Amino acid sequence: MLPSQHFIFGFIFSLLLYPIFGLGSLIILLSTIFIDFDHAIIYSWKFKDFNLKRMYKYFRHYNGKEKVLCIFHTAEFLILIFILGLFYKLFLLISFGLLFHVVLDAYEFFTPRSYLKRISLFFRL
Ligand SMILES: [Zn+2]
Repeated sequence: MLPSQHFIFGFIFSLLLYPIFGLGSLIILLSTIFIDFDHAIIYSWKFKDFNLKRMYKYFRHYNGKEKVLCIFHTAEFLILIFILGLFYKLFLLISFGLLFHVVLDAYEFFTPRSYLKRISLFFRL
């Protein structure tokens, strides 16, 4: 999912949670967006390049060609942050944002249209 889409959905999600968490919903929004920082780590590590435009292009056309582990998107990382959240509210808010982001990514990954994109030239256009 594009960063702009994550921002829009994250903004709506954090707005819905504002009555419960107040300004803490801002932490949820930020964590919804900055979880993708692991992409920057992977790209800059692999290509020794810190150019955001080229990084964006690389992952935009990435389509899962290579096996890349995005560490902040893993279940283990989410569980770790959630466990920390049991002791510190900040991490609980972060875990909500991370979980929301991963659910959006998973939704996009498993929608019929995204599946068709993987198996059809027509849907890739
Ligand atoms: Zn993501």
